[in-house]
Amino acid sequence: MEALGSSPALGPGGKRSDMTATLRAASWAFRGLHCSSVPLSARMSSQRADGRCALAEKVAVITGSTKGIGFAIARHLAQDGTHVVVSSRKQQNVDRAVAALQGEGLSVTGTVCHVGKAEDRERLVATALEHSGGVDFLVCNAAVNPLVGSTMGTSEQVWDKILSINVKAPALLLSQLLPHMEKRGRGAVILVSSFSAYIPQVELGAYNVSKTALLGLTRTLALELAPRGIRVNCLVPGIIETDFSKVFYKNESYWNKIRENYQLQRLGQPEDCAGLVSFLCSPDASYITGENIVVAGFSPRL
Ligand code: NAP
Repeated sequence: MEALGSSPALGPGGKRSDMTATLRAASWAFRGLHCSSVPLSARMSSQRADGRCALAEKVAVITGSTKGIGFAIARHLAQDGTHVVVSSRKQQNVDRAVAALQGEGLSVTGTVCHVGKAEDRERLVATALEHSGGVDFLVCNAAVNPLVGSTMGTSEQVWDKILSINVKAPALLLSQLLPHMEKRGRGAVILVSSFSAYIPQVELGAYNVSKTALLGLTRTLALELAPRGIRVNCLVPGIIETDFSKVFYKNESYWNKIRENYQLQRLGQPEDCAGLVSFLCSPDASYITGENIVVAGFSPRL
């Protein structure tokens, strides 16, 4: 049978042979039967050439995952066969997200975790360990921006909050999870930055700075943790349609300027970010660490 990833067979006149297409479809359906813990609709998108779910029997912890980008990442990883622990500050949001994903037949649990609180981080680690005693992936997605304003207008209290939640908390949570990731032999960490790390947005002073700091944290952690089998990469979203960014894409003059300057064809969706995270967690990315990858519909770098 034709190997996945090889060129499609061509029939007379350069057309792909119908027989090959039929065999390939049958082969996908057969592979789908192997990943029994994942619904068929999900399995069809997550099979590898060897017939196993790409991320089966793994455990992922995702902060800020009850809506928006974090929720889309949780769903995608769970569809790829990973057991996912969702979390955020509010119990009702955790309950709603867990119920929605379990309702799709996915392996998901959840707990409240305000990433700035040490006791909440400990509970998150404990909840993750309940599944199989270890953790393979950490996605640090939670962030705050309590102020729309300039860097010079930012009080010490606001600086502390932004840097504590956006920059310090991912490092502290990772240090709590690290022993449990190391014992699995290898692991992957994804930090979530922003295009404003490259192109500072006026009125997002300290937030821009916190997201730039995450690029440095990614590279530093990648170096530190490579000998311990942990890869660290960074997702850099552009403007994605969520509650967090409403204030920007609903502002007509700002949005029109962005569209025009970057030839944006549409507003990004949370799902646009999710496949990249699954890829970065997968064995296909085993030689990739210390990278920051932009999902923005344009490239903000030189
Ligand atoms: P969102 O839709 O507002 O979702 C934020 C999530 O984080 C919610 O689940 C929220 O739930 C949780 N959360 C907020 N503060 C938290 C805290 N202190 N501890 C734990 N959880 C917390 O936001 P989003 O747009 O998906 O943003 C996700 C990430 O993408 C952020 O890091 C953001 O900086 C980055 N980003 C977003 C965009 C964009 O255009 N949307 C662009 C660039 C970067 P609770 O309220 O229950 O805590």
